[in-house]
Amino acid sequence: MNVRSQISSVFHLDKCIGCHTCSIACKNLWTDRRGAEYMWWNNVETKPGTGYPTLWEDQEKYKGGWEVTGHDLHLKMGGRGSLLGKIFHNPHLPTVDDYYEPYTYRYGDLFNAPKGDDQPTARPVSMISGEPMKIEAGPNWDDDLGGSPIYAANDPSMKKLSEQEQAQLFALERMVFFYVPRICNHCVNAGCVAACPSGAIYKRGEDGIVLVSQEKCRGWRMCVAGCPYKKTYYTWSTGKSEKCILCYPRQESGQAPACFHSCVGRIRYLGVLLYDADRIEETAKRTDPELVAAQREMILDPHDPEVIAAARKNGVHEQIIKAAQKSPVYRFVKEWELALPLHPEFRTLPMLFYVPPLLPVIATVEEGRTKLGDDFFSSLEQARLPLRYLASLFAGGNEEEVAKAYRKQMAVRLLRRSETVEGISREVAEKACAAAGIGTDEADSIYRLTSLAGLKERVVIPSMLREQALESIEDPHEHRREAGFGTRRKAKRRW
Ligand code: SF4
Ligand code: SF4
Repeated sequence: MNVRSQISSVFHLDKCIGCHTCSIACKNLWTDRRGAEYMWWNNVETKPGTGYPTLWEDQEKYKGGWEVTGHDLHLKMGGRGSLLGKIFHNPHLPTVDDYYEPYTYRYGDLFNAPKGDDQPTARPVSMISGEPMKIEAGPNWDDDLGGSPIYAANDPSMKKLSEQEQAQLFALERMVFFYVPRICNHCVNAGCVAACPSGAIYKRGEDGIVLVSQEKCRGWRMCVAGCPYKKTYYTWSTGKSEKCILCYPRQESGQAPACFHSCVGRIRYLGVLLYDADRIEETAKRTDPELVAAQREMILDPHDPEVIAAARKNGVHEQIIKAAQKSPVYRFVKEWELALPLHPEFRTLPMLFYVPPLLPVIATVEEGRTKLGDDFFSSLEQARLPLRYLASLFAGGNEEEVAKAYRKQMAVRLLRRSETVEGISREVAEKACAAAGIGTDEADSIYRLTSLAGLKERVVIPSMLREQALESIEDPHEHRREAGFGTRRKAKRRW
């Protein structure tokens, strides 16, 4: 057993209101500068939809992530020889049109235009060339299903549905959608790291955060192509790549990443997971429908004495083990099996997990229903948002994994209603819990962490004794310079 630790996250999609506050918090902090205008390290997409960059999930177009041929696990974009051949021209890279040409408005014209017969307007201008432009795309062009027959209909997961199901989904009275906020998944089997020919991208040993060394990066953009989630970006002003750093400087001073801290819906949870690094390859080679369970198996129980001993032997700090034992991510992912990885079939073993959204499903299931009996769960099959679609997003096509998570969420909701709403008996709710495979105590814990938890319970950052770690490095600022953030005064320890 080769125990490693990883800072991981859960996003609870039932709570996301699509306000984009997270994106703005991140933009203000990290990408509000020349060359990075088009970048959204955190973006929020409407599903069904084509996302940002457009059609990022279509690996026939972008060739990101891994694939298995026979017993061989290799990057979809090809081996080292083929990578080098693509240094000067890579047909699978997203273009600026796939992202969008960043723009602003000439607001000054509203105040400074000479007196005339017409109202002055603020014309849109390109942030790259400064020239006036006609805006035809943006990072949230299909937000809230805007233009759904044109955009959402092209969502790659829609291909899993029959023509009739697709038509039903877009009939106005049956329309349904939800939001998927996305950041870098800080994957265990990261495609970006494997694709980089200059070894500029690395996974930090102590917490698994994936960073790009700005000194080593040569701007070949193989990381952009290798990441199936398109979460590394090329900065045209510096000629280097960069990506979400999970706000590690904030974490080192005990604060939640900016997008977590600012999240209005309180949907974001952060904590440590311990995993067995010896199982990475065998896990990534499993068949699509087995991937969710295999990834779960790779995650280790932080209370198990054998795991603790192996972690200590591997140099995992005591504070990190303690944090893993309090990790809300562990509870959602492993204990309750409620949170699932996004597109596990890309085989990067992402370490950001999603609780699938119940609301669009239950809104349909409950329509016209008065009977909440034994057949309550069977109505999941008639949900307006077909399970097949959700399984294509979160479970490598394994509908049972999604259904299992839904049954638990529905049982928790029913149990709460039995306490607060007349007409739903405790007996029915307990039956639902039993059918979903959870006890009422467990249902209560799920409810508490989902609905009542404060920031300290949602975000459990280990006290990593960072200052001592830095002092043990010959040049304590080298690490930070490598990640492109220059030097800074030593922060006071706040934990
Ligand atoms: S999401 Fe992409 S950029 Fe982030 S670690 Fe995974 S492969 Fe790399
Ligand atoms: S801030 Fe939170 S609720 Fe708002 S869009 Fe982002 S993840 Fe969703």
